[in-house]
Amino acid sequence: MSDDGLQNLIKRLGKLPGLGPRSAQRAALALIKNKEQTMLPLAQALHEVAHRYRPCVQCNNLTELDKCTICNDPRRDARRLCIVEDVSDLWAMERAGVFQGRYFVLGGCLNIMDGRGPSELGIDKLVSYVTSISTSEDMCEIILATSATVEGQTTAHYIAERLAGLTITLSRLAHGVPVGGELNYLDDGTLALAMKARTPLTK
Ligand SMILES: [Zn+2]
Repeated sequence: MSDDGLQNLIKRLGKLPGLGPRSAQRAALALIKNKEQTMLPLAQALHEVAHRYRPCVQCNNLTELDKCTICNDPRRDARRLCIVEDVSDLWAMERAGVFQGRYFVLGGCLNIMDGRGPSELGIDKLVSYVTSISTSEDMCEIILATSATVEGQTTAHYIAERLAGLTITLSRLAHGVPVGGELNYLDDGTLALAMKARTPLTK
């Protein structure tokens, strides 16, 4: 490998989330030192995933087929759709096992400064998907599960405006005290939201 090739590898590794220039250098050297056990299997795995996986035509989840296993599963509740920012959010929801409906993966949230507008996020695709199933499959609820950040909230409001004409209940995930959390460690914003979203105690 020429120096240029090595620098190119370090530069590309450094663009990965959570890796800066120094950790990219460490990762590159570790790969080279363990060529047989680490580098070549990693190259093989990258090659396989790059060629086999693509976004689901319906929901943007990753899939080897045109439609992902969730969209293809007749046991999933087609009347409920959960909108998430990324596939990792979909995985988190599935790990928790708390949702039996279908998803739509936006691929991020709105950020005009970073060049992520409605068309980059596929919000038009979402609107046409929702419009088509809301007439044929009696859709009743859309859950906007975007982040509790300014960008996440803006994205949720924008989607709610785009879907305003449809007779579907729009809901958001509740924000508040995390399980196992202590009140004096919460920031003021979280505490205020938790107070606002308080629920009656069931007897
Ligand atoms: Zn899908």
